Amino acid sequence: MRVLLTGGAGFIGSHLSERLIKAGHDIICMDNLITGCESNIDHLKGNPSFEFVDHDVSNYIEVDGDVDAVLHLASLASPVDYLNYPIKTLKVGSLGTHNTLGVAKAKGAKYLLASTSEVYGDPLVNPQPETYWGNVNPIGPRGVYDESKRFAEALVLAYNRSHGIDTKIARIFNTYGERMRSHDGRVVPNFIDQIIGGESLTVYGDGSQTRSFCYVSDLIDGLMLLLESNVNEPVNLGNPAETSIMEFAKAVMGIAGKESEIVFEELPVDDPKVRRPDITKAKELLGWEPKVNLDEGLARTIKWFRNKQ
Ligand code: NAD
Ligand code: UDP
Repeated sequence: MRVLLTGGAGFIGSHLSERLIKAGHDIICMDNLITGCESNIDHLKGNPSFEFVDHDVSNYIEVDGDVDAVLHLASLASPVDYLNYPIKTLKVGSLGTHNTLGVAKAKGAKYLLASTSEVYGDPLVNPQPETYWGNVNPIGPRGVYDESKRFAEALVLAYNRSHGIDTKIARIFNTYGERMRSHDGRVVPNFIDQIIGGESLTVYGDGSQTRSFCYVSDLIDGLMLLLESNVNEPVNLGNPAETSIMEFAKAVMGIAGKESEIVFEELPVDDPKVRRPDITKAKELLGWEPKVNLDEGLARTIKWFRNKQ
């Protein structure tokens, strides 16, 4: 396939680029590098199957030649990033999704949206199945991200229903691994940078809020299976092993083999209190479930962060 991959220079996008090339596909990696990084894709640049295009997908997208699949991963993705760029976040989720769907329609390509567990907001149901409609504050600071992805899902399914486009929606839960950006503000790079640098670990709130962390190779397996499937409705992709942020801080110290003080900072507004995917649908429809446990994934990620120092 010839694949248009937006956000391809980001954390997940660069891993997906690699996997798609390995599977024999040609990639047009489109990214404006707002949070992505050329060093994530430097090793792919000499490959004849890989082309990088520096472009903001919230503006009209021009692609010459055939395109068989459009994968829309471009978005601000970390809470700190989308609080810094609220309007760009709303634009890439709305205009960017519209433009990329337009490419899929014009080229007769299939389409995959990287959606998020944030469509469930601060959930009142745990774990979250795809049938849960969520508990989102549309006008709170996180609303710019949550609503942009909820709008994106609605638009994707409207293109499926009105134009017959073969669309897929991955509701991605907290994913971590090599190439996460230091200082992107998410808990995984924060704690790893802090432990390596001998600094205190910053736990927001009392650390009782939960997340479920999925190692990036597992997520990429899930995205590839979803892309190849005939499933058009949203599918949760994440690791159901739920941990409190306090337990997670201790796990990082344990795997790093170092102790650090824990300091408590204010809990961000609307920070979800629980998050855990119900992956029954992914298991049944895709035959997918994560294989890498937190200890193993954290060990690999910490090693990568140490080596890049
Ligand atoms: P990331 O910030 O590393 O990657 C996002 C990429 O999109 C970056 O390379 C950035 O430069 C690019 N981008 C942003 N706006 C753009 C625009 N207007 N035009 C072109 N490129 C643009 O984040 P990530 O963690 O790799 O996230 C990738 C996708 O997965 C995002 O859509 C995100 O919402 C989704 N997601 C990620 C997670 C996670 O835990 N990592 C969880 C849920 C959903
Ligand atoms: N968090 C924390 N310390 C940090 C960064 C984040 O305690 O240095 C918390 C944050 O409040 C949230 C959880 O860790 O409860 C996961 O945050 P992240 O930014 O990774 O993503 P989210 O799941 O909130 O989108």
